[in-house]
Amino acid sequence: MEEIKKCYGCGAIIQSDNEKHIGYVPKNASQREHILCQRCFQLKNYHKLQTTTLTKDDFLNLLDHIGEKDCLVVYMIDLFDFEGSRIPGLLRHIGYNDVLVLANKRDLLPKSVKERKLEHWVRRQLKEEGIKPVDVIITSAKKNMNMDKIYDAMMAYRKHRDIYVVGVTNVGKSTFINALLKHYAQVEDQNLITVSEFPGTTLDFIEIPLDENSCLYDTPGIINENQMTHFIEPEDLKKMMPQSELRPIGFQLQEKQTIYFDGLGRIDYISGAQASFITYFSRQLKIHRTKTINADALYDRHKTFTLELDGMKTIKDMKTYDFSLKPGKCDIVISGLGFITISSQGGKVKVHVPPQILVTIREAII
Ligand code: GDP
Repeated sequence: MEEIKKCYGCGAIIQSDNEKHIGYVPKNASQREHILCQRCFQLKNYHKLQTTTLTKDDFLNLLDHIGEKDCLVVYMIDLFDFEGSRIPGLLRHIGYNDVLVLANKRDLLPKSVKERKLEHWVRRQLKEEGIKPVDVIITSAKKNMNMDKIYDAMMAYRKHRDIYVVGVTNVGKSTFINALLKHYAQVEDQNLITVSEFPGTTLDFIEIPLDENSCLYDTPGIINENQMTHFIEPEDLKKMMPQSELRPIGFQLQEKQTIYFDGLGRIDYISGAQASFITYFSRQLKIHRTKTINADALYDRHKTFTLELDGMKTIKDMKTYDFSLKPGKCDIVISGLGFITISSQGGKVKVHVPPQILVTIREAII
């Protein structure tokens, strides 16, 4: 039987099969006596953290483990994909620990929206899940936004305890920790990561010392199946995923009109009085209005679009979602792609998207 080896940085079982999974080491390096997994190696040598993922059960074990500690939990969510970035049932697992929420990717939302408004919106969404954070800080890890504020808050709320940073993959957790390390790490390189304090487990926390007695722990994420990044080709993703501020485009729509967001999907205004639809998508996407009666043929001719997906030959290959609108304002969210803010007196809409994409309705964010 082959001997099981563990990373001396984080305790993960060494494997060479899956680069994204914990404990990965390239094959030619896996024979050494003392092994650091690729993630620990990068952190130790380049101060750079890589994301890894866990299976669902391992992830829940990891959260339960945090629940047994007295610590500060830093919960990172993605403002642009709030639904896709939630950890369902977080509170059940982490017990009574204080939660500091970092709402990331603020740079993708229009600059005109006030930070305060976003903060209140996040608090209301969290409240529905029973989460009452000690604070919500709006940030953009990519742009180093509010880093000092976050650092100060973490130090104040941790009250000399450890910090655990949690989030699903792609929320920007490693971008954030890397920014943090760059700005505040004053520790010697060789001390940056230490042997896991949970021998015999494969919980795979990475420890970053904060002082003599406490650490910040990075935890692996879990893949949220609803995130598009997991089933769309990288080339297409580049076009679809906004890299900078989303572009708002406004329409006054009559019933039986349709808006296509390039070849990626569409929203039909089935019934209702004239209403305002504002689309927020990547600048690269072509947004196109048409009459619903012509909409199927338009898609099937493929002339109008710059982007289409494999396997989506006709509009019938897409999945549909139906929503009833209450009078007032709401967002229809196309997870990971963008959203449409509708102000109406009530009515009905139908959304067509590729089968893997989640569509939800929520309180308007803007
Ligand atoms: P992790 O899986 O949670 O560690 O996420 P990463 O740090 O690897 O980031 C996932 C993707 O989101 C990458 O393409 C990052 O460049 C991007 N990203 C991270 N933070 C931000 C941010 O503040 N704004 C924007 N626009 N993108 C970000």
